[in-house]
Order: sequence, then structure tokens, then C-alpha cells
Amino acid sequence: MTRRIIGILVCVALLPLAFAFKNSPTQRKGVKTIVIDPGHGGKDQGAKGAITTEAKICLAVGLKLGKAIEEKYPDIKILYTRTTDIIPGNKPDKNQGLRYRAEFANQSGGDLFIAIHVNAARKIAHRVPSGYKYVGKGKKRRKVRTYRTYYTPNPAKGTETYIWAADESGHKTDMIKPEDEFGETDSTITMPEINDPVMKAFQLLYAKKYFENSLQFANMIEAEFIKSGRTSRGVKQRNDVGIWVLHATGMPSVLVETGFISNKEEEAYLNSEKGQDEIVESIVNALTNYIAAREKAPASNNGSKSPDAKSAKADPAYIDRKSLAGQNPGK
Ligand SMILES: [Zn+2]
Repeated sequence: MTRRIIGILVCVALLPLAFAFKNSPTQRKGVKTIVIDPGHGGKDQGAKGAITTEAKICLAVGLKLGKAIEEKYPDIKILYTRTTDIIPGNKPDKNQGLRYRAEFANQSGGDLFIAIHVNAARKIAHRVPSGYKYVGKGKKRRKVRTYRTYYTPNPAKGTETYIWAADESGHKTDMIKPEDEFGETDSTITMPEINDPVMKAFQLLYAKKYFENSLQFANMIEAEFIKSGRTSRGVKQRNDVGIWVLHATGMPSVLVETGFISNKEEEAYLNSEKGQDEIVESIVNALTNYIAAREKAPASNNGSKSPDAKSAKADPAYIDRKSLAGQNPGK
């Protein structure tokens, strides 16, 4: 099945929800439900460090993040794609787990999706001369240099927050749930058919809004990491390998790489109570700013014209489109 077909199927599956919503007086505005997605889990432990794995750190940070948000915002509903060391949905493999994460978020009607991950950088290879050897026979026999390779730890460190790649916007558009388009409007409005051009136009509009909101939230997260003394590697997109959980979720979505497990000091930090608490505090502070921006935004676009997102978009330095060679894909 192509992604587009999957997208349409998801939309069709969600149509009953949309019709139910049509008759509901509830106004859907701002951030009411947050889906927290601790990366990896179960037999997919993600990147491995000297003392722990990515999956374990993601779960610890994800659960703490949810708890901290609940304490500060009791009205916000927190949902987790997993709360134990399993592949979400108890799926048999990583890819099915990824689909489940996105489906879970879409079906729960999340307003914001936060994936928690940990980075890893490959060791640095050094090729050095080690001596000489003779090759060939007779007249062709000659002396050549020999080399050996040794590896040293990669000092890469810091945080980075991913938003979905522009190339994947078509998919994002497909994943936008029909009820989103009408959640803030008159509930007596007539729902168009799923393939209606009007519906498609609404979806495109919301894809744009979600992109801008995701970018704004991602910038806010990295700004908070900087305030807490971390090294920020910025807000990024990955165009070579898509990040499924970012482009298959019909809501603003970010993937936070909270640090490098391949860096000894950062691995210790990521495993410490202090480190985890600081990471959580940074994301909660960013969320506070994000919610404030949503509330300030005109009801008609609910933040799509926020100055932060606009200025960030205008500055190409905010988005490093290049993939980072040798790093964990962070899916
Ligand atoms: Zn990961």
C-alpha cells in the first residue's frame, strides 16, 4: 500500500469521528491532549551506550515528562505510546511499532506529539602507518606501507529537535483528521466528502499550520536547552530518511534528541536524576511558551502566523537540512 492510500484509509476510518464531532458542542482549541512517544523499546533498544540503552532513557524521560506536564497542567490529557519496556502496542517489530505510534496518536486526537530519543555518533576512525611489507614476486616485488585503524570515542554532544521534512508534507496532509478542520468553527457546518477539493484545501492549510507550530515548538525547546546550559545543535529536518512518527501524525509533532549516549559524560547525564529532571524542565518550559503562543494567536489560525515561526522560517540557519552522517536515525 502506498502512503497516500494509507493516509486516505486513515482519514476514512476517522470520518465517523468527524461526524460525531460535528454534533458535539465542544470547541477544540489549543493544547488539550499531548501524546508522548518514548522512542524504541522491547527488542528494539535503539542506540547502546556503555551503561544503558536509548530505549531505557527514553522511557524514563518520557514518563517524567508526562508527570511534570500533568502536575503543571492538570487539564491536559497525557497519553503515552508505551509505559513499559516494550515495542508499542506489543508489535512484533520496530516498523510495525512505528506505525502503531502514529496510529495511536491519530486515533487519540492528540494536539501535540512529542517523541523522545537519544542520539549516538559513530566512533572516529584513525588510519595510521604501521610499518612496511613486501608484495608481488620477482621483478615486481616491492615494499609498501602498511596501515592500521584505531577508533576513538566521538565527542559529539548536545541536543537537537527534529520536525518533519518538507518532502513529506503530502503525507502529513493526508494524515490530518477531518474534525480538525471544523473543530473551531460553527458545529452546524456541513461536512464535505473526504475527497472533496474543499477538504483537500483545508488539509493543506492545516499541514502548513502544523508545520509552523512544530517549528515554533522545536525552536522553543532548543532555546530552553540552551538556557539550561546544554549544547544545542538546533532544529533539524531529515530529508534522506523520513521520520515516520513525525510525518504520519496529524498534529504538530517534534522529535527531541535529548543527548548523545555515545558520549560518556552525556550518557551519565542522561541516566542521572538531575539530567532527566533538567531535560523535562526544559521541555515543560517550552510547552508553557508554546501554549502561551497558541492562546495569543487569533482564533482563526490558532498561531499559524506566530512571529517566531515566521522569523525562524525566514532564517535558513534555523533549519539544517543536511542529514548527520554517522548518527542514529532517531526513529
Ligand atoms: Zn532513537
